[in-house]
Amino acid sequence: MHELSLVQSLMEQLQDLATENKATKIITVTMEIGPLAGVVIDSFEFAFEALAKDNPLTTKAKLVISKPAISYSCLDCQHVVDNCQERPSLCPACQAPHLYPDGGDQLILSRIEME
Ligand SMILES: [Zn+2]
Repeated sequence: MHELSLVQSLMEQLQDLATENKATKIITVTMEIGPLAGVVIDSFEFAFEALAKDNPLTTKAKLVISKPAISYSCLDCQHVVDNCQERPSLCPACQAPHLYPDGGDQLILSRIEME
């Protein structure tokens, strides 16, 4: 499972940040995961729960995942479709099928609360 290794490296990152900040407890971890990041959110949450509870640093940590919507640009007429959760099949302006995603593949640790 690919999500498990992502969470493993997230845990290492959290450990380093906690050491740097002399924190002993992580309270909230906010991740931004784009719809094109290729991450199954359910598996990510499951892996996080499984790994977090075995570590005193993260045993009480809450994972918050934000899923940014993305925009698609039409290569033919430059029309931009904002706020997509899914890829539109055709450009709503010119009906061309050549839509290009703008971002959406981010996997970012956006915020941590610790003490
Ligand atoms: Zn178009």
